Amino acid sequence: MIKKILIANRGEIACRVMKSAHKLGIATVAVYSQADTNAQHVKMANEAVYLGEAPATKSYLNGDLIIQKAKSLGVDAIHPGYGFLSENANFADKCEQNGIIFIGPNSSAIRAMGSKSAAKTIMEAANVPLVPGYHGDNQDPSFLRDQANAMGYPVLLKAAAGGGGKGMRQVWQEKDFFEALDAAKREAMNGFGDDIMLVEKYLTEPRHVEIQVFCDNFGKGVYLFERDCSVQRRHQKIIEEAPAPGMTGDIRQQMGEAALKAAHAIGYTNAGTVEFLLDSDGAFYFMEMNTRLQVEHPVTEFITGEDLVEWQIAVANNLPLPKSQDALSIKGHAFEARIYAEDPHNEFLPSTGLIEYLLEPPKNEHVRIDSGVVSGDEVSIYYDPMIAKLVVWAENRDQALALLITSLQQYMICGVTTNIPYLIQVASSEPFRKAILTTDFIERHGNVIA
Ligand code: ADP
Repeated sequence: MIKKILIANRGEIACRVMKSAHKLGIATVAVYSQADTNAQHVKMANEAVYLGEAPATKSYLNGDLIIQKAKSLGVDAIHPGYGFLSENANFADKCEQNGIIFIGPNSSAIRAMGSKSAAKTIMEAANVPLVPGYHGDNQDPSFLRDQANAMGYPVLLKAAAGGGGKGMRQVWQEKDFFEALDAAKREAMNGFGDDIMLVEKYLTEPRHVEIQVFCDNFGKGVYLFERDCSVQRRHQKIIEEAPAPGMTGDIRQQMGEAALKAAHAIGYTNAGTVEFLLDSDGAFYFMEMNTRLQVEHPVTEFITGEDLVEWQIAVANNLPLPKSQDALSIKGHAFEARIYAEDPHNEFLPSTGLIEYLLEPPKNEHVRIDSGVVSGDEVSIYYDPMIAKLVVWAENRDQALALLITSLQQYMICGVTTNIPYLIQVASSEPFRKAILTTDFIERHGNVIA
């Protein structure tokens, strides 16, 4: 049984993982960079070990160093959080080779889902519905253009190695194809060192609905229902909710079963998320699988009453899943808003520096805040400028939304500019209240949001 976990991450997710570990009586080790010497995740851990300078390549991305530190401290398991090394199959392999449990999927599943095109090939073979498109090896620009012409515009060019909404371009007419392809390839090469592109039919008003799945090491899997993450800016999620408004029991079951089929097709283990685009007619299409705990997992925890990190640790301990599908159900409604140190009036550029004052809304069984900072901490230029996740729960969507808005209003943060006023505007807007959720929500309703 795991007795000591090293968390190979920082900020809110490192703190969140430690919370469950401590609840289970498991000791924790934090890792930190020079910029994080006084960070909350370092204070919260039972032990902390210095990695190196602030740039992630010299600290949080240095897998060999992290494993070496873990071994010297007698660590049984490493939790990678999200980002950094969480979807690095080589790192997962190296953990196992060094006798350390990687709390996440087996490396072959990470590898299989690491390329969006390879993933689509596997899903096609497993009969999981896909967005129509081309995901093969032929990268000749004229060939790709012919594919786009054949499927009809608009199309979406997508980097096979992409993530975080980068390396994507919409193309609305043939004459713009080559220019968009060049731009997307350049961005992909810069961001991921790989410029293989997929061409997909661009669905104009879909919803982003994703299914949380969990599989144990004995071939059993369950789905913990869906999250609606349609409200996005530049393909990045802003506010997520669970369950998805208007979801029928039938479609939920179909999507859940398709997600499990996707997971089983690659022999998946531990927590994963299968992302789908859902059309207004109820048709849904596989987009990709994220082989880690997601940022937005707390909304699922609220509606199911389960602790997903506890589940992850159970599976890593080679135990069966804590619950069967029949024993899982949805209660109430939850929202998550991502609070960022960024300036909505200046192209959402990060607003780094000292958090002079931070007052959170009162926390209780309806309001949860996952945060890695307090008054006096710094938002550094080196990492993602997310300050916290505000997560709320109530019996129904209207009540949960009202609570989300009041909680956002109660936040006080001085020293850095935040996106809170923007989140309040999105959450208070008429289309959001009416749950008219599509992935182009922000573009479409920009006029009602500042
Ligand atoms: P990333 O890995 O960069 O997050 P995804 O493939 O998950 O990329 O896509 C991110 C977002 O882009 C989706 O949530 C959705 O809003 C949009 N998107 C992706 N594929 C399509 C498509 N074929 N049609 C319309 N929107 C899409």
